[in-house]
Amino acid sequence: MERRSFLAGMAGASLASLVPNPGRAAGILPATAGMLDAIRGVDAHCHIFNASDLPVTSFVVEVLLKQDPDSPFKRLGHKALRILQRRAPSAREEMKWLAGRTHWATFTGSASLMRDAQTMQATEVAPDDTDARFRDAWVEIAEEDPESFNAFFSDYADTQAKSAAVIRSGAQDWLGSPDLAQMVRGNPGMVNSIAEQELRIRGKIKACLAFLKTFVRYRYENALTLSALHGQASGRRIGLFTPAMVDFDLWIGSEECSETVPSSISDQIALAARIATHSDQKIRCLAPFNPLRAIVDPDYFPLMEKAAGEFGCLGFKVYPPMGFAPHGNPDGLVRNLSCKKGITGAMVDEAMERFFALCARERIPILAHGSPTNAPGGDAVKALLGGPNYWERAFKKFPTYFKGSDPAVKVCIGHFGGVSTKGHSHGWAGRLAELMKEHECLYVDTSYFEGLLAGGSAANDLMARLRQAMGSAIVLERTMYGSDWSMLAQEVGADSYPTTIEKALDGLGLKEPAKDAIFYRNAYRFYGLQPSGKGRERFLRN
Ligand SMILES: [Zn+2]
Repeated sequence: MERRSFLAGMAGASLASLVPNPGRAAGILPATAGMLDAIRGVDAHCHIFNASDLPVTSFVVEVLLKQDPDSPFKRLGHKALRILQRRAPSAREEMKWLAGRTHWATFTGSASLMRDAQTMQATEVAPDDTDARFRDAWVEIAEEDPESFNAFFSDYADTQAKSAAVIRSGAQDWLGSPDLAQMVRGNPGMVNSIAEQELRIRGKIKACLAFLKTFVRYRYENALTLSALHGQASGRRIGLFTPAMVDFDLWIGSEECSETVPSSISDQIALAARIATHSDQKIRCLAPFNPLRAIVDPDYFPLMEKAAGEFGCLGFKVYPPMGFAPHGNPDGLVRNLSCKKGITGAMVDEAMERFFALCARERIPILAHGSPTNAPGGDAVKALLGGPNYWERAFKKFPTYFKGSDPAVKVCIGHFGGVSTKGHSHGWAGRLAELMKEHECLYVDTSYFEGLLAGGSAANDLMARLRQAMGSAIVLERTMYGSDWSMLAQEVGADSYPTTIEKALDGLGLKEPAKDAIFYRNAYRFYGLQPSGKGRERFLRN
């Protein structure tokens, strides 16, 4: 978004919509220390955003598809993606919607979070809300962009298994509309499927639809779903989720380098505070930091200060593969941004330094995308910008922020340096394990270990790599459980992720104390939630 429209967004907001807690609705509980002390599981890396928070078309086309050309999304054209985005409630719409609701009471101390979530869905969320919105989007896609629609569903079917009947019944099952099924036209040359293939197709398409559904939901519904799937049901009682917002705007997009993102960052941050109160503090978001926005918008740093202050965000999320390094930004990279001429590496370094200073002052931690993936356009150089070497430069350059046994700024390199992805050959996991000995500010997380969900040789290979990387006490003290749901929702088996991770930790021979550390104790230290921690103050203030 350009500065003008960003500011217009701020000016247009009524004061009430930017105040975190404009009077608590009945039944909403204030944050208490007791809430924190009861928690035995933290998801330190997750997301609840919807398509209104992202430049969706560019993200899918320039990031997800460049990453994985076989991705299920390859058949969704721009038109179809824009239709999904239009159906997503904006942050402002959601604030209005939430204002009319009570809270998440049924989640607190309940015997069965899953059952409560279902009750909640039935009572709090109008039954036709999400499902109807999602179905309507597909009806619109079928009408406006039939090629995308048909290709999306039929493409799942293996050439061997392409059966018009499978696709038709699938569309009907998954989307719950006979009208839609009518719209799916069988492709010539389809043959009957065999049962096994059909199951595989069903699993994949179901996961893909579950993921796309998160695009059109209220973020609060995404939070509810995440908490229901990975909360009590997991046996680990994950009771605190710290979903990260992302700000890809200005880095990817059309010629103007900015696809219009319907929900402004300021609205998203204000909404996050509302969601925290409505979820009885089970959902405490991380604000996104985008150095490019910091350069072009003089009102951006005050907003970031507010995010950490009155809006109670527990941390910041940064996404280096968009095109910036923590420190030592190469001029060439930023100069190539067609939309932001005249920006130099030094300017980006300066914005990052100012950001680190803010984090140090507020003692607010940083979650960083941490695998050599998800660079716009599949750019191999950009993909490396969030790697251990660039972070090490920052740690060494700013010892007052990052050094010592109780560093002012802690940094989590997400996905354990991409140990589960194709990019693991860069060896970041091993390098991070080394760096952790020297830098106590450095943490990692277990998010998006899709290899474990896939099972078979993928799981065995990943386990071998984890055995190596997690072989020291230092690493075990600074590894946090994270899922990367809703991104993870596109993987088959995502619903049982906490159990999958727990089994993997068992497989590594870890006992209860080590597993407790990974599931919550390390996250408490990272987010400063322990008694007298700054994060606890922040948690209780809101
Ligand atoms: Zn993530």
